[in-house]
Amino acid sequence: MRSGAEADPRARRGRARVSSAVLSSQLLISAAALVMVVAVLFLDTEALGDPALFAAIGLIFALTAVAALVPWGSVPKRWGAMLPLLNIVAIVAVSAAAPTLGAPLLLIFPIIWLARSFGPRETIVGFALAFGSLLAVRILGGSPLDSSDFASLLLVPIVLGFAATSISISSSRARAQTVLLRQHARHIERALESARRQEELRDAVLNVVSFGVVAFDREGRVTFVNRWQRRALADFGAPPGAVVHPLIYQADEITPFSDDERPFGRALAGQSFDNVVFWVGEPGGRRAAYSASCRGLTDAEGEYDGGVIMVRDVTAELEAVRARDDLIGSVTHELRSPLTSVLGYLDLVRDDESLQEETRRMLDVAGSNAERLLVIVTDLLQAASDATMKLEMAFLPMDLRAVAEDAVDAARLLARDRQVSIELHAPREVHVLADPARLRQVLDNLVTNAIKYNRPGGTVIVRVAREGANAVAEVQDTGRGIAPGDLPRVFDRFYRTAEARSSRSVGTGLGLAVSRDIAERHGGELSVQSVLDEGSTFRLRVPVSRAAELPRSGANDESRETR
Ligand code: ADP
Repeated sequence: MRSGAEADPRARRGRARVSSAVLSSQLLISAAALVMVVAVLFLDTEALGDPALFAAIGLIFALTAVAALVPWGSVPKRWGAMLPLLNIVAIVAVSAAAPTLGAPLLLIFPIIWLARSFGPRETIVGFALAFGSLLAVRILGGSPLDSSDFASLLLVPIVLGFAATSISISSSRARAQTVLLRQHARHIERALESARRQEELRDAVLNVVSFGVVAFDREGRVTFVNRWQRRALADFGAPPGAVVHPLIYQADEITPFSDDERPFGRALAGQSFDNVVFWVGEPGGRRAAYSASCRGLTDAEGEYDGGVIMVRDVTAELEAVRARDDLIGSVTHELRSPLTSVLGYLDLVRDDESLQEETRRMLDVAGSNAERLLVIVTDLLQAASDATMKLEMAFLPMDLRAVAEDAVDAARLLARDRQVSIELHAPREVHVLADPARLRQVLDNLVTNAIKYNRPGGTVIVRVAREGANAVAEVQDTGRGIAPGDLPRVFDRFYRTAEARSSRSVGTGLGLAVSRDIAERHGGELSVQSVLDEGSTFRLRVPVSRAAELPRSGANDESRETR
């Protein structure tokens, strides 16, 4: 089995580097020795016959062979210091055999080697060895030492000492920098690797999700399209390379989107939006509905940096809603005519003067229940047609106070019946450009609810006022209130709270949904505040003159600019 160290390519590279550094230092010395052999041939022919010279130069070449053959990376470091030390001995021996060649200068090579590759201790040993052996050679030569000899003997080692010190300092600096650079390189390598892995993970996740994802950069270049989106494109024969469907239709299924209205176009223009519904496929052929949302992204400086579009298949959802509305529409339509006829005949019967009191009471009960049934059926029919046709609006200058007065008057009978008192606080006229019939529908619904969901002896207060650029109508009751969990849902179509369902109050759960639609079609809003067991306040706000800025019909989106 291979050891961990052998298996590590970085450790292998380190060892190879040590071996090649040793060999190149040794080759430098052998090259100098070679030059010296040539110099001997020309300058010191007497020395040619000296076997000590050849032994010394032979030692240098033998050390070169050792440097080449030994795997220095795997040998303890201090053994490596033996090579420059032996080279010092060989060079001093050459200088002893051929003093005219100036061989001591070559000592600079092994000293530098020691200073660069080993510590100051080894360098001092090399320096002492060089100086000591030069001195020994001089003394053993037999001639007495004079002061000039001593100077020349000292000069070479002193120069070598300075050179070695400065090289040792700069090489330890270089070594530290190399270590630092290697650490940086390793960090960068690791960061790159983790970024690459995260990208792979992101792509893998985004490719298994069941919705489309298209990402683009700040220049609008598409950077990612997930598998779901590519499949959705291929399903409807989009040309190769397309990232979105080339032709899409609005929520009405027949009007094509213009380029700047298309979700993709809006996304590239830097807009964020939610749930823009579009249809693909030719009218009459196979079709699918998608809902697109877009979010802009920002970089580290908070600057716009492209965005992501998410696309969901909502065909089944829309078809289920349509089937439900169709069913409600047709059933309620079928129920309305017989019910109207029942009510008509009941009225005729009740006109009969000869009826006994008990019979008349029973007919009254039947009549009032049939009337409630008619209200429900009418509501359902209205909601079904609103869902398919969208609310039609006719904006006129009108007085919201007058509409509120009518709504309160119409509710007085029901209020008396439920023993609820009703008050209108509207000190002055509130003129607004709006659809009077639709606002009456909203107020009727709010006032009726405030009575229906009140308690006997309770109160309903209707306030109408102008607040800045808005007309506001508030309907406050002292009823049972709405639990916090129900509050966000009371505007959902067909939603009724558990209390409402278990009470004797008849309802469909449509009134508030339609009312909120009406408020929004006026560019306003319908909101609620409620405290359980204390009561609720519904607040209708419409701008007094914003008809020109009303949202377009059919656009089922809430948009927000991000830049
Ligand atoms: P409906 O009254 O026909 O049920 P709405 O859409 O008008 O439908 O109201 C939805 C639900 O909101 C009601 O069923 C009821 O649970 C709750 N709700 C509405 N108005 C009030 C109110 N004033 N107080 C308490 N609950 C209310």
